[in-house]
Amino acid sequence: MNLTRFPRARFAHLPTPLEPAPRLGAELGIELWIKRDDCTGLAGGGNKTRKLEFLLGEALDAGADALITQGAVQSNHVRQTAAAAARFGLACEVILEDRTGDQSAEYVGSGNVLLNRLMGATMRTVPADTDMNAAMDDLAARLKAEGKRPYIIPGGGSNSTGALGYVDCALELAAQANATGLKIDRLITATGSAGTHAGLVAGFAVSGADIPILGIGVRAPKEKQEFNVHKLAVETAARLGHEGRVKREQVIADCDYVGAGYGLIDHGVTDALSLAARTEGLLFDPVYTGKALKGLIALAKAGVFRGETVVFLHTGGAQGLSGYHHQLEAML
Ligand SMILES: *Cc1c(COP(=O)(O)O)cnc(C)c1O
Repeated sequence: MNLTRFPRARFAHLPTPLEPAPRLGAELGIELWIKRDDCTGLAGGGNKTRKLEFLLGEALDAGADALITQGAVQSNHVRQTAAAAARFGLACEVILEDRTGDQSAEYVGSGNVLLNRLMGATMRTVPADTDMNAAMDDLAARLKAEGKRPYIIPGGGSNSTGALGYVDCALELAAQANATGLKIDRLITATGSAGTHAGLVAGFAVSGADIPILGIGVRAPKEKQEFNVHKLAVETAARLGHEGRVKREQVIADCDYVGAGYGLIDHGVTDALSLAARTEGLLFDPVYTGKALKGLIALAKAGVFRGETVVFLHTGGAQGLSGYHHQLEAML
């Protein structure tokens, strides 16, 4: 498969390390490895950086001078987009959705929001359940009227262009496993706006790497999440010229660990954050990787992964931690 026919701006630190996590693995009774996509390098890194390489490639080809995107107030995607815009001298226009209702100074001003400000992004916040795609279209129309050339990046960078970044990650991981002789029984990732999960499914399906993937949901119920991931994986495989390769049964999401809702923290999450920090010195985030780890811990303790070698994709997010200072402090 040839990814070089797609425009791509190169700025991620790749390949990311694939590292053993023996002390955390021992706690869970599995052989655990971490794929360090928290180390992709762009202003703290994270999974959106791989997607942004392909999205920026398209934006620059189109002659854009501004990026528009959207996300939750403490979005890691927005922070990485602001960094990519700065790096290429583009304006960054952001719409933040108040999904959690948290009005604390930390949540609305610290963590990723502070970093967005530092990198010169223009932010405006809208209420929960706003039609974010329509809001981005309106903003694009306003910028065009001012003579700008905006390029819209969907929430989470999750379209078939962004998902190419995770096709690349799937190939990279399979190559690392082959080079070291690591037999991976399962890959686990947080799954939200679906681009990461879908790109991985498409990458393994198209390349024939037979590694099952489990997505742990952070927002939507299972049926909706699997539908979204499958649809995007099919589209992504088609972009690669491999229509029909993605099978519905290759898309599995477990959405039993969302708790009270997107971005809302519970003790299962804070326990997971402290366990990773105290056994491996690894920093996870409360919204995505912490929830996925909460799921991994519960499933491993129930014996679901007995005898398996599991790779957990660390998708980043620790830059948001200080945005949750009060909530975390109360629970740790
Ligand atoms: C966005 C994000 C995810 C989820 O990835 P999607 O491609 O949106 O499903 C996981 N972890 C972190 C830290 C993220 O910022």
